[in-house]
Amino acid sequence: MAERVIIIGSGPAGWSAAIYAARAELSPLVFEGAITEENRLAGTLPLGQLALTTEVENYAGFPAGDLRAFLETAIDPERVQYMNILHEKHAVTGPELMELMRQQARNFGSRIVTDDIVSVDLQKRPFVAQTRDGETHEAHAIIVATGARANYLGLPSEEAYKNRGVSACAVCDGALPRFRNKPLVVVGGGDSAVEEATFLTKYASKVHMVHRRDKLRASMIMQERALGNPKIQMEWNQSLEEVLGEDKAGVTGVRLGSTIGEKPKQIEAAGVFLAIGHTPNTTFLNGQLVLNEKSYIKWSQPFRTATSVEGVFAAGDVADDYYKQAITSAGTGCMAALDAERWLAAKGIH
Ligand code: NAP
Repeated sequence: MAERVIIIGSGPAGWSAAIYAARAELSPLVFEGAITEENRLAGTLPLGQLALTTEVENYAGFPAGDLRAFLETAIDPERVQYMNILHEKHAVTGPELMELMRQQARNFGSRIVTDDIVSVDLQKRPFVAQTRDGETHEAHAIIVATGARANYLGLPSEEAYKNRGVSACAVCDGALPRFRNKPLVVVGGGDSAVEEATFLTKYASKVHMVHRRDKLRASMIMQERALGNPKIQMEWNQSLEEVLGEDKAGVTGVRLGSTIGEKPKQIEAAGVFLAIGHTPNTTFLNGQLVLNEKSYIKWSQPFRTATSVEGVFAAGDVADDYYKQAITSAGTGCMAALDAERWLAAKGIH
């Protein structure tokens, strides 16, 4: 029998959609993604990008406090044992927030499959979604909440040293022995770059922030953090031209080019972390939904989550090239579930 609604994705949009759909008694089936090395390298593991961050200070409702007892009692003990709950006063961390949302979705009856949807057929009714394992699932409505993944520059040398010093996730890889007490490089000038650089100062002897302009894009509070941190050295007006390395040691440095015509330079570094924005995860749609010029899913009307295919809704970063915040993703996840519920009711699908 076809599902009433399938939700693809497990970030704040996916879980918020699941909480609303489950409470509307739609018994949503959530595909949270597969736990594979390929997904780890691409930054598309279950629980999305928030699972790759540290503290989330701007998600309303979580002022800094001692969350230990709350987390330990709210989340399934099976999963708590693998969580790295901070035993100190803190704002909720990204992974904690995602576990809380996942648990809340489960509590209301969402069913969760730890697999990717690799293709969909949106020409058929009900729609058909296929998993990496080759299983197919039919659904009357689909909510796409697959988020976005970190970009790389596309340099051959960057590709050559991935996993040997090149990364797009400081939180995942920053504590590795290869980076301890060594100089590191972060590329980018947005909030992610500042967050990565600040996080890496815990381990690195120094962090060079390589930015192509002479002004950061990051929010004021984050800029102050970067500029006021004695371990962060700004490399203004520079672009990463080549990652330098050796077969055995991995990354040993970078070659930078000036964006304002000054002399190129080399910096010694044991690691290079890319923080240059994101690309939405839409490949599995295979062109069946209308996207905008930046490849994000286009809503068919402003402030409604319906897409170019009736019965398919989009929420979170996969449909947002502008705000990209955890809280806005959660908001659009809620909207998508309400839109799907109303659409199913209008079609008489119960
Ligand atoms: P972003 O704001 O789009 O910043 C990307 C940065 O990478 C920019 O500084 C950009 O340079 C640079 N860049 C892009 N392409 C490049 C290239 N080919 N070569 C060199 N540099 C390149 O992306 P983000 O930092 O990932 O942030 C995304 C969203 O998440 C934002 O809305 C941000 O506020 C939010 N976020 C918030 C927090 C927080 O509040 N704690 C943390 C992380 C992310 P230019 O500046 O020159 O364009």
